Amino acid sequence: MGDADRLDVAVSGGSMGGLFTGLALRYDGHAVDVFERSTGELESRGGGIVAQPRMLDFLDAHGIAAPAEITTTTSRRRYLDRNDGVEREYADRMSFTSWDAVYRQLRDAFPDDRYRMGKRTVDADSAGRTATLAFDDGSTARADLAVVAEGGRSSTRDRLLPGVEPEYAGYVAWRGVTPESAVPAAVNERFEDVFTFYQGPHDLVLGYLIPGPDGGTAAGERRLNWVWYDDVRDRDERRLLTDEDGRRREFSVPPGKLRSDVESRLRADAEGLPATFADLVAATDEPFVQAIYDLTVPRMVFDRICLLGDAAFVARPHTAAGTAKAAADGIELGDALEGDVEAALDRWERERLEAGRRLVAEGRRMGENYMN
Ligand SMILES: Cc1cc2nc3c(=O)[nH]c(=O)nc-3n(C[C@H](O)[C@H](O)[C@H](O)COP(=O)(O)OP(=O)(O)OC[C@H]3O[C@@H](n4cnc5c(N)ncnc54)[C@H](O)[C@@H]3O)c2cc1C
Repeated sequence: MGDADRLDVAVSGGSMGGLFTGLALRYDGHAVDVFERSTGELESRGGGIVAQPRMLDFLDAHGIAAPAEITTTTSRRRYLDRNDGVEREYADRMSFTSWDAVYRQLRDAFPDDRYRMGKRTVDADSAGRTATLAFDDGSTARADLAVVAEGGRSSTRDRLLPGVEPEYAGYVAWRGVTPESAVPAAVNERFEDVFTFYQGPHDLVLGYLIPGPDGGTAAGERRLNWVWYDDVRDRDERRLLTDEDGRRREFSVPPGKLRSDVESRLRADAEGLPATFADLVAATDEPFVQAIYDLTVPRMVFDRICLLGDAAFVARPHTAAGTAKAAADGIELGDALEGDVEAALDRWERERLEAGRRLVAEGRRMGENYMN
């Protein structure tokens, strides 16, 4: 029996899952070190995030960020028709933030001397009440608990669960973020207070305002975020995911890296969208693409090692919950760790497996509806 009063915890991966977990466990009195393979700023994950209440409450309760300062809101949802008219519209209150604004606040709240960059985990092992992470520079970290928050392509998950792989869902999301000042005023105004959609026969486009790169939420400082789910039916998705340097990417080709022929085709195809979205795509400097995947795991706890965030479950972005789920996995791990560690991990795993499975199923259902 191990006591969860104060644990030494080593976290592999310093993005959303790693930082929410690291902070939640620190606030509960545990000693946490985060090990991140990147050597500089993390590559931003695109743009907009639907700001789920659980995540905002955590940021607010711990004085990390006041929700009003990092969110934009809309009070209506509108579907455009093919000719850019309003097909239907209804009241629907939403809050949005951006991946970079949340990441920056979390990173600032986590102590620098416990956030180790340039540390790529190459092995994880658990024996008795100890977990050990081994890094590519030959060093190791021993802890009472290791948390694997390495994202959808986690190599540690591959070792713990050989054969468990993300499954391509058969379509991609073209995406872009552009300063509102770069968009014609008449187009920008259409997004004011409105979460805007266009549902095509085999595609779905949506757009909304998000905070600016420095978190500004005042008019003029914000950015417009759009996502175009496209079944790219006559095209080979592997070619779309090969970047301009000829490198084959797994999940996404980031801004500035789309091959020019892929970008030209995207821009030409976007001219066929309702004018609001056609203009928005035209005003975006560096569109990018993300392939849509589903991932589920049969287990999240391996003695004193746990998997969380995208390393465990990747739900389609229609659920608008990737970041919120990574946050909830970490926050709930903190809440669960009381008394006997093994019993706490067992409880946490049962709850988070259920939540992950539900979310992935919901994403599949939504994707099937939207894309067919
Ligand atoms: C292109 C793209 C756009 C997205 N856009 C949105 C969005 O707009 N809204 C939203 O809610 N969600 C979005 N998501 C999903 C969202 O980014 C994830 O759900 C969320 O970031 C999950 O956090 P995570 O920490 O589990 O994984 P990740 O954010 O993927 O982070 C994993 C971290 O682990 C590090 N790492 C990986 N392997 C190792 C290793 N071996 N050793 C040490 N470190 C390692 C990585 O460098 C990375 O920092 C997007 C995802 C992608 C790929």
